Amino acid sequence: MADVDRLMVSVSGVRGIVGKTLKPEIAYDFGRAFGTMLTATDGPHRLADSAPAPDGEVFTTPRPTVALGRDTRPHGSLIKNAVAAGLMSCGVDVITLGVVTTPGAALMTRVLECAGGVIITASHNPPPYNGIKFLQPSGVGLTADQAGELERTWESGEFNTQEGTAVGKETECTRTHTMHIRGVKSIADVTGIASQRFRVVVDSINGAGCVVTPQLLGELGCEVVHLNSEPTGEFAHEPEPVEPNLTGLCEAVREHRAAVGFAQDPDADRLVVVDEKGTFIGEEYTLALCAAFVLRHRKGKLATNLATSRMIDDIAAKAGVEVLRSPTGEANVVELLKRETCIFGGEGNGGVIEPRVVPVRDSLVGMAMILQYMTDIGKPLSELVAEIPSYTLVKTKLPCPAGAADTVADRTRAMFQDEPGATFNDADGLRIDLPDSWLCVRASNTEPIMRIFAEAPRAAQAEALVDRVRAIAAEVIDAA
Ligand code: MG
Repeated sequence: MADVDRLMVSVSGVRGIVGKTLKPEIAYDFGRAFGTMLTATDGPHRLADSAPAPDGEVFTTPRPTVALGRDTRPHGSLIKNAVAAGLMSCGVDVITLGVVTTPGAALMTRVLECAGGVIITASHNPPPYNGIKFLQPSGVGLTADQAGELERTWESGEFNTQEGTAVGKETECTRTHTMHIRGVKSIADVTGIASQRFRVVVDSINGAGCVVTPQLLGELGCEVVHLNSEPTGEFAHEPEPVEPNLTGLCEAVREHRAAVGFAQDPDADRLVVVDEKGTFIGEEYTLALCAAFVLRHRKGKLATNLATSRMIDDIAAKAGVEVLRSPTGEANVVELLKRETCIFGGEGNGGVIEPRVVPVRDSLVGMAMILQYMTDIGKPLSELVAEIPSYTLVKTKLPCPAGAADTVADRTRAMFQDEPGATFNDADGLRIDLPDSWLCVRASNTEPIMRIFAEAPRAAQAEALVDRVRAIAAEVIDAA
């Protein structure tokens, strides 16, 4: 698996092992490439998603500005400085946000009216990794076209280098957490939640959520037991917020008799929930619970991706609203959400998107919604979970050489071709819907792996579907 170690460049940004595949000079060049894109635009130095300037308006800001934040990974400073240097060398001003969450950086890109944003994070990847994610002025990740342009500019090595006083300058902004908390509180009944005096256990995995999360929960009147609460980037367990990595959180919820347990990933855009009995609820329930909460108050369309559980369809059907599905990738969900004016959306990986706060996944929004839902209904979390029709969603991943996932998808399609009631969707890898179940096969955008998901009313049924695809995958990968 030689290509496991390559630099991953995709619509989700750039990821690699610091000093090995993600060298500082590569980060510098990506800063230069993004700076070149932003300064090449005629008129207002804005990417496509900002409002066009009225006819005849004179552009008053001399240089485009980029908001730049990072998560707590110890090498974040190195990569951040390299990207900042690249941006400034092309005449872009940089506003440094310091250690912030991904949704916080997205929010500030919009609040500070920047031409773009950058967050240095490798999300849940292991500690040697870091990444660079580029944002549009709204805080949303780049479109596929913009990401393509960025990559071509980087590859070309031709940058809009400035001299002397034409280079950018760096300033600092320390208001991210305050602005983020203000945004989240604007969609919550703060007095109502505070009246419950919830005891909440939070695992912030020594990541970007460490500082802002207890502040928010404190302002919501919660008593917080905070695990892995130092923003050191020294991950106390495997960083992906999945069940085997969160046994400590489950125990702490029981030990402290808490109403709920919350786990964040290192950049705090994803949220996973543990009920009051210390039971791991699963990442898919984060979106389902939040959708159930949202639809109690407002009716409108929901947006999610093709790999998310059917639970949200059941919840939406009960409320008489529609669920729209996009290809996987946060930017695709957000694009669909905006295009179809959906009121809420997200992903089954624990990512909830409330566009009124910030149009990206936000664990803080998810926490406020779940606490509000518990307050509104007055039931313990386990009972709210039990009200949602349950499925078993089996998610597996395996290392996969480039291109092999497509071959696996083709052979899987052939195998299910004659299955009664099967429908096929190849908008994103391959998704096959069967009468009461579905499965999908796709290559990851950020890692050299292939994901195989299947969901069915019974676990054995879902596992059998996954096993059929795994058998095909094993043959293809062996032959590769
Ligand atoms: Mg993340």
